[in-house]
Order: sequence, then C-alpha cells, then structure tokens
Amino acid sequence: MDLNLKKEIQYLKGVGPNRVKLFKKLGVHTVYDLFYYFPRDWVDRSKIKPINNVKIGEKETVKGRVIAKETKKVRYNFSITSILIRDEKGYISGVFYNQPYMEKIFERGDEVIFYGKVEIYRGNFQMNTPEYEIIKSKRKNIADDDLINVNRIVPIYPLTENITQKQFRKIIKFALDNNLKYIEEYMPEIILNKYNLINLKDAIYNIHYPENFDILEKAKKRLKFDEFFFLQLAYAINRKKIKEKKSEIFNINGPNISQFINILPFKLTNAQNKVIEEIKNDLISGKPMNRLLQGDVGSGKTIVAVFSAILAKDSNKQTAIMVPTEILATQHFNNIKSYLKDTDIKVELLLGGMQKKLREKILNDLKNGKIDLIIGTHSLIQDDVEFNNLGLVIIDEQHRFGVLQRAELIKKGQNPHCLIMTATPIPRTLSLTVYGDTDVSIIDELPPGRKPIKTLLFSNDDIFEIYSFIEQRLKEDAQVYVVYPLIEESEKIDLKSAIKMHKEWSERFKDYNVALLHGQMSKQERDNIMMEFKQKKINILVATTVIEVGIDVPNASVIVIEHAERFGLSQLHQLRGRVGRGQEQSYCILIGDPKTEEGFKRLQIMVRTQNGFEIAEEDLSIRGPGEFMGIKQHGMPEFKIANIIKDREILEISKEAAFSIVERKCDLNHIQKIKLYDIIKVKYNEKFNLLNIS
Ligand code: ADP
Ligand code: MG
Repeated sequence: MDLNLKKEIQYLKGVGPNRVKLFKKLGVHTVYDLFYYFPRDWVDRSKIKPINNVKIGEKETVKGRVIAKETKKVRYNFSITSILIRDEKGYISGVFYNQPYMEKIFERGDEVIFYGKVEIYRGNFQMNTPEYEIIKSKRKNIADDDLINVNRIVPIYPLTENITQKQFRKIIKFALDNNLKYIEEYMPEIILNKYNLINLKDAIYNIHYPENFDILEKAKKRLKFDEFFFLQLAYAINRKKIKEKKSEIFNINGPNISQFINILPFKLTNAQNKVIEEIKNDLISGKPMNRLLQGDVGSGKTIVAVFSAILAKDSNKQTAIMVPTEILATQHFNNIKSYLKDTDIKVELLLGGMQKKLREKILNDLKNGKIDLIIGTHSLIQDDVEFNNLGLVIIDEQHRFGVLQRAELIKKGQNPHCLIMTATPIPRTLSLTVYGDTDVSIIDELPPGRKPIKTLLFSNDDIFEIYSFIEQRLKEDAQVYVVYPLIEESEKIDLKSAIKMHKEWSERFKDYNVALLHGQMSKQERDNIMMEFKQKKINILVATTVIEVGIDVPNASVIVIEHAERFGLSQLHQLRGRVGRGQEQSYCILIGDPKTEEGFKRLQIMVRTQNGFEIAEEDLSIRGPGEFMGIKQHGMPEFKIANIIKDREILEISKEAAFSIVERKCDLNHIQKIKLYDIIKVKYNEKFNLLNIS
C-alpha cells in the first residue's frame, strides 16, 4: 500500500488532537481507514421537495428559512425543541428531544435543510430529529456553502457525538481530493471486465460522493465484491493447499464393505447413496477428503459415517469419530457397535472420566492398531492419544467444535481424510462464507415411512390442556421429553427452573416415572437415565438442552418445549428432531409467549414447516448471521459493506472469480497474483495461516 495512505489522519486538514481521539474510537487511524469508513446512508439533496408536497411517512429532504424556534419543558428532565422553517409553499418543524442547545444552533433567517421522516402532529408537518444542515447564515463560519453538502447526493456517516456530519464530510472530502490518487488498483482487468466492476478509485470516491444513484450502486457492488473476493480467495488457496497434500488411496471394494452391504438393516435412501458415492470419490482421489455432510436430524448420517469407517478398515486405516457430548458418544458407540456386530471391525469408546486402567488399555490398543474405530469426545485430542494409522477423521455435530479442535485431531494422522457432519442445515450463503474451502454433501431426504411431526403452539395459560393431552399420550405408551432452555450465562437459574419443573411434572403425573436430566449431573447419572429412558422405564424426561444433539429414542413421540420464544429456530428444529423417529405419530408442543408480533411469526414458521433448510434460511434472515446457530464459534468473518443475505449474487460471482484464479482457469501473471496475495496475507493470515503461499 502506498505510504501516503498509511499516513495518520492527524496530518489531514481539520483533524486536531481531539479529533484524532474521536476517530480512533471509530476505528479510523489512517487516511486509508478513512476511505474505508463508509456512509450508512445517502440522501438525495438534488431532489429537494417543496414543503407542501412532502408525503407523510416518507423520508424527505426539504429546504427553508428558520422563522421560529422554541423549547418547551415537558417535565423537569425532559424538553422538546422545535425549529420551524418555511419555503414558498409551506411550513415544517424539526423537532429535537432533550437537546435544548439546538435552539442555539439555528438562528432566525438561516437557510437550512432538513432530512427525515415526515410526520403530522396536530395538523402540522414535522420531522423528529431530522438530519439538518445550515446552508446560509448571517453569522460567520456557521453556514456551509461548500457544495459538498447541497444540491447533490450527500453521505450520512455512522457517527458518535462530538462530530457533525458536515465536519466529517469535509474531512473525508479533503482526504479524497488529496490522497485518492494514491489508491492503486489491485484487481486484474480481466476480472473487472468479466464481472462488470468499476475501478477502485472510482468506487471509493463514489461510495462517499456519488454523482448519481447509478454510480453509487456500482461503487457498492465493487466494494462488496472485494470484501467477499478476498475471503473467497483465501478459501480457494487454503483448499488448494489441502488438495496438494497426498493421502492414502482407499480400497473401496474390500471384503468388509462387501460383507456389510449384505447385512445392512435397511435399504439406503437415494440421498444416502449419492453422498456415499461422493465420499468414495474423495477417498480414492489420493488427496485428503475435506467434506461437510449436512443432513437434517434423522436423515441417517450415522450410517454414512459407518460406511466410511469400513472403507478405512478395508484400507488398513483407523477411524476416529469425535462428538461433542458424552451422551452422544455413548449412543453412537452403541448404535455403531450394533451396525457392526457381525463384522471384524473393532470399535471402542473413549471418554473423559474413564477408569485409569481401562483408559490405558484403550490407548495402548489404539497405538498398536488393535482398534479400528474409536468414538469419543474432546478426550480424543488429548496429548497421550496416539494412533497406529489414523486415516479417517469424522466429526459429528461439527458446529460444536472449533476449527482448532478439528485440526488437532487431524494432526494425529498423516493427512487423514476428513468428514465433518452437521444436522444444522446451513443456508448456502453461509456455507460459502464459513465453509468456503470445504466440499459439501447434502442428505435432503428422510428415510421412508416417517410421519411428519405435528407441531402445536400454545401459551403458558394452556398448561392444563397440555397436561391432559400428555396424559392421553402416556396412556398410549408414548414417552415424553420436556425441555427447558438452558442459557449458558445463567446456567444456575435455568437449572433451578428445570429442577422446579421436574417437581411440578412429577406431582402432576404421579402414576408415571418422571426423571430429570441436565448437564451438571455426573456422566454416570446421565447415562443411567438415558438408558432407562431408552428401556422405557422412564415416561417423562425433563431436560435442559443437553438432549439437543443427536439423541435417538424412537419410542419418544412427544416433545414439549417451554419458553420456545427463547430458542433460535434452528435450535427448536434440532430439539424437535428428537421425536418423529419411530412408527407413532409424533408431536412437538411449543409453549411460548412471544412478546412481539415478530416473535410470534417466528414460532409460526415452526408450525408451518419441517424443512430444516427453510427454517435455517428464515432463522438466518431474522436473526442475521451473527446470531445464527453456532456461527459465532466458527469465527464468521466480518464485512463492512457486504451482507451475505442481501448480496448473495455478488458473493457467488466473487467465489467464481477467486476460484478461477487459484485453479488457473483465469491465468494471471506473477505480478497480478502477488498484488492479490499481499492483500490476503494481511487480511486473513491469522484465520488461514497463509504466510507461505506463492
Ligand atoms: P442423524 O442424521 O440425525 O444422525 P441417524 O443416523 O441417527 O440420523 O438416523 C436416524 C434413524 O434412522 C436411526 O434410527 C437409523 O437407524 C435410521 N435410518 C437411517 N437410514 C435409514 C434408512 N435408509 N432407512 C431406514 N432407516 C434409516
Ligand atoms: Mg446424528
């Protein structure tokens, strides 16, 4: 980057020591930072409306002369200041709350611009806290007849107090006029042409001071493209790095797999078959598999994992399956062992709190290659766990782990193949931004014969109705989950609530066995309870969200979720997936009292659909990527101007562009590449460890 752009902003006109502090708070240190401090909005001041023509409820720009001003004290600590302006056609007031100093800012006779939403109050037009500017005043140094503020599209910046839009605009304008020339284009022309992108200088200038809205759109497109592009380029390079490694070519026609196909307890779905083919292709490619398997709860991912593990065995390689909780590890272990009971494949379970002797034996067997498939929690990545020949790493419920934990398990083998699985359907835009270097397989079909789960929405007042419904289900031998949200920050409080609920449900259903399950019980206790639930010794299981992931009890056909409004949709969907696993009609009863219309609509989505991808899309668009389930842990990159939901098309083309460069479909010369790589090294080194790219 040109040194002039790294110049600290204190050297700019209009930026003294106080301003420097203020800018620092905004994250602006250099001229370059300033260029990339984008407006949050743009106001069209070339379209000033005559006041009598404004539309109520619309954002409008008006210009007029101040003819009156007053401040009313409404209560001792509350004041309203009105500035009344007029043009040839009418009157409108700018209204400011608790800002009595506004009266000093405006003088009678000043020519001002107001921009804001028009409302009507007692028959008169007004704007509440409008954006304002004084364009002419008899007082000196007040008015700004600088043309950057009028008669054009004007930027509005996200600012804190102590600096006005006008002051900020001036500083930016000055910086642009003097330093824009130092901005160098790094994007190859072939890319700019192909995707119809304007050059960087024009984009930066016009994001701040667009001549018209058309060029503003082009500027936005270019800058959004760049944001996505460098992330995608980092992914493309990372992927190439992975694929440059050599992995064992697996034998996909070995004796164990041939035998296993004959003893499969069910016919695989088309989707399962398709995914298994994709995995096989990876396993014979000679390069490490790096694949994400997405499949809704109950879609049958476990058998796919088992298939892969058998292929590893036929290739004399070990497999490790890592899962987030001990309950899940144990359950996987039991299921997988029963899938494999008539094979020669040796399966073991490794948990945190194991007896020392037993643990030592397992570790020894693992090291000596006596174990083919090991299932465990984080315990698998401890230092003393060594493999004989780890060839396949499978991570279930991937979103519960960090990237580093995955890497640690992978390190225990020599370029093992890696399959990560998740039951959280991830909208495509998100998987492009979070799993950009990963291949994706999707199981989009449930095994046959499943009845759709009936989802019902109740309020807290309906509890007796719910009780009697549950009573009936219990009489028909159904088992019931009752889930209470456990929010991490207040685990103790929620735990208390679950305990209290357990008491209530026990009292209400005296003739039945009501048990409690939560994360702070010992593993032994939890295992015992799950076992008893599976064996139908427990009728109602009151639980915190520890049951969220993967638990499989086909006879449980009712799940009651309290405080449903507190959960994300994807999480509700996960919970609902605990039922609907057997032959009986299943029910999901949501109890919630959403405080807003929005919250109510959210829960209605659960009632309406059972399609995990649809729910995920909704969840993403309602809560935004930041809150979307599990995404925080992934270190979702932050974008300044691009939005993965709204700018999906730009995301897709940026991916295409980035991958075409790395895969040499679009050939660039050395200098062109270096320019781009220098930028990602700065931007994404930490995330991808890309220092040694070439
Ligand atoms: P998930 O994708 O949620 O991990 P599981 O692998 O636990 O799903 O499978 C859910 C249930 O469906 C299990 O009881 C499993 O045995 C059963 N299952 C999986 N695939 C099939 C199939 N093709 N036909 C019938 N049942 C299947
Ligand atoms: Mg599963």
